[in-house]
Amino acid sequence: MTYSRDVMLDEAGVEYFLRDVLVLLDGVAAGVVRQALGEGLGSLSDKQWAVFKYEVLEPFAPEHCTGCNQTIPWEEKIIAADDRGLCSFCRQTHLKPD
Ligand SMILES: [Zn+2]
Repeated sequence: MTYSRDVMLDEAGVEYFLRDVLVLLDGVAAGVVRQALGEGLGSLSDKQWAVFKYEVLEPFAPEHCTGCNQTIPWEEKIIAADDRGLCSFCRQTHLKPD
């Protein structure tokens, strides 16, 4: 996992991801995501960033598709995490009967 706070600040779709992932979380992780949405990722302390990384990014945000190795857009990460880590293209291809 090579996400960095600074890079994510500027990436499109991150906010969309945060809103979507929030409903799947509770406890400390949900609190961290709520803060990120309200005050931005830059407001997270190192400790909060660590929680975010291990409890949010790790389980819900695969970086690259396990099929084609392309970067998975933020809007698709949760779906990909739920389906073998595949991007939408590979998911369709893999679902297609031969
Ligand atoms: Zn793919």
